[in-house]
Amino acid sequence: MIQRIAPTIRIVYTEDGFTESNCVLVEDDVRLMIDSGAGRALAEARPETVDVLVNSHHHVDHIRGNDDFTRARIFAHELEKEAMGNPEKLMAVSGWDELMEGSLEEHASQFGGLPARIYEPWRVDETITEGQVIDCGRTRFEVLHTPGHTAGHCSFYFPEESLVFMGDICLTAAGPWYGEEHADIDEFIRSIDRIIELNPHRVVTGHRPGVIESDIQRVLTEYRDRMLKREQRIFNSLKEHPSTIHELASRNLIYRAHPTTFVLFWEKSMLKKHLERLLAVGAIERLEGERFRAREMVSAR
Ligand SMILES: [Zn+2]
Repeated sequence: MIQRIAPTIRIVYTEDGFTESNCVLVEDDVRLMIDSGAGRALAEARPETVDVLVNSHHHVDHIRGNDDFTRARIFAHELEKEAMGNPEKLMAVSGWDELMEGSLEEHASQFGGLPARIYEPWRVDETITEGQVIDCGRTRFEVLHTPGHTAGHCSFYFPEESLVFMGDICLTAAGPWYGEEHADIDEFIRSIDRIIELNPHRVVTGHRPGVIESDIQRVLTEYRDRMLKREQRIFNSLKEHPSTIHELASRNLIYRAHPTTFVLFWEKSMLKKHLERLLAVGAIERLEGERFRAREMVSAR
């Protein structure tokens, strides 16, 4: 479905949750799209006539339609460009071998394997940078480098419309997600704080249906603070039992369920980031046998 939210701005909503993503379409002198993962809804946007395609980041749910943009120049942040040639990064499972038993391919075969397209090269024609203004005619918007979810993740600020497209600062019940090697909790927090400070009247994300127009600062604050709540749960769990990362993962401290092995991997990968943070502030210590233990007298916060 395509929703017109300003004279030149449309949102192309996916019908398929997390394997695809919402996109932005600018209908102006320059026809421009942000992200290409809208699935069946993408055809309505006539991707073959789009002039510029901007990718918010490299994950396959945001770039999966890129090949339909046959005449567009494709833009992405420098830090995403390299990742767009890496199948594990495209599938958001980099660091798999360190945390999981069995190869990625073995697990992926349960769902019919990884998509063949991720092994082929992806084209990026130009890189975008923090503060860059992209001019489509009447419509102008600014690139906000908002790392955390990935190193080069970008959001896009339309000042005239007081609108931010936040990509995978997703505001869904499952987020925030920082489950791969180059994701970073502190950067994610800073990126969310930046949007809270910007105080836009409207935000749209890659995975939540509709335009969010009320209580944006409260919604973003609650979303940000989930990361700290997860960390507190991990610390509390380590206070009860010194544990390995695998034992912690079995307690579902981040995701309530692990419906696929991928979700189990993301739980472990995100646990790893919290454990590193807790180690850095001295709240936990590493024991023999790869167990971690909470240190008494030291608060996690
Ligand atoms: Zn993503």
